Amino acid sequence: MKEKYFSINFTLLTLLFCTASFILAAGGPVKSPTGTAPDRYVYYPGTEELKKDEIRLIACGTGLPAARRDQAATCFLAEVGNGDKFLFDIGTGSMANVAALMIPYDFLNKVFLTHLHTDHWGDLATLWAGGWTAGRTGPLRIWGPTGATEDMGTAYAVDHFLKAYNWDAKTRNFVLSPKPGEISVKEFDYKAENAIVYQENDVTIRTLPAIHAGDGPVSFILEYAGLKIVIGGDTFPNKWFIKYAANADLAIHETFLTPPDLVKFYGQSPGQALGVGTQIHTSPQAFGKVMSTIKPRHAVGYHFFNEQGTHDNILMGVRETYSGPLSLAVDNMVWNISKDAIVERMIVSPDQAWSVAGPNKPPSPPAKGTVPDPLTDFIKAGHWDPADAAQADMIKDFKKKYNMK
Ligand SMILES: [Zn+2]
Ligand SMILES: [Zn+2]
Repeated sequence: MKEKYFSINFTLLTLLFCTASFILAAGGPVKSPTGTAPDRYVYYPGTEELKKDEIRLIACGTGLPAARRDQAATCFLAEVGNGDKFLFDIGTGSMANVAALMIPYDFLNKVFLTHLHTDHWGDLATLWAGGWTAGRTGPLRIWGPTGATEDMGTAYAVDHFLKAYNWDAKTRNFVLSPKPGEISVKEFDYKAENAIVYQENDVTIRTLPAIHAGDGPVSFILEYAGLKIVIGGDTFPNKWFIKYAANADLAIHETFLTPPDLVKFYGQSPGQALGVGTQIHTSPQAFGKVMSTIKPRHAVGYHFFNEQGTHDNILMGVRETYSGPLSLAVDNMVWNISKDAIVERMIVSPDQAWSVAGPNKPPSPPAKGTVPDPLTDFIKAGHWDPADAAQADMIKDFKKKYNMK
């Protein structure tokens, strides 16, 4: 009898607890049938003004080099209270998440690259050409590290990126202003320790060396309004991160798939799995050790395919060595960071977002005859005239509507 009484009470308590959490998760009670649910722990892009002393950090890519629809490769967008925005890495597939934020492309012109693996800069082409067609009015600005030799550095990479996309640029230059197709590169020493690579409008960005695959990779520290955010690139735990990331408000560091999961899901040999999972990258246990040493207000782990089958293994590994506040990132996770609080939410954004115009007028296309026509007479001679006849009425109506000659 006594036992039964206990069990009923326990059930009741569980029910009460679940009900209470449900109300909290929904952000509080809805007080009337025509009311709205307040603060639903969801961020709808473009609907919240950032406070002057706040940073909004968005995970636009948290995955791996192999493509997955659910998770793009590395990209973090930091928006600071003065309006400045910084992309940290622009990994393969990440631009679809960036675009869904509906931020005018003129505000997405500053990119900081941790290193030159495709999962950290593979979508530069999408930002470069896509942004050019969708409203960016000036050049892209890129900051990135040198390498051990000139051909392993960011300036070399971007120079040859533009050479590879020569056909793209030349054909766009004929119909669009070439200005937004330009890229300026600021290359800095990958060995520099806590050195300032950017300082404008009360925002300071510093670089730290990292240990990953070859010489060149770095991590970044962003400082604004007395807040310190660390954006760790790929690395084995290193002494520079321990020294300079200490006491960060929010510290991002990679935590890789566990060696057993690299064997199970990635088909790696046990030898490969150990090398990749514990030497080229950071294991969950080592990630936890880093975080319990630097003690950030909030720790973020990323760089793994985050699903039920991997998440728990990583979490258990991290919890062997770190018990503090933690996010294991997925795409479209967002953190609002201020002195008072660090709030993690998920973004709800449209799959079919259009670009949004910014305040600047697009520069005029080049004057006729100033840029060589990329179509030769041979190709033009293939023009099929019935197509012109078929669209003639539609063109006439359109021209009339817009007072065109
Ligand atoms: Zn890498
Ligand atoms: Zn990577």
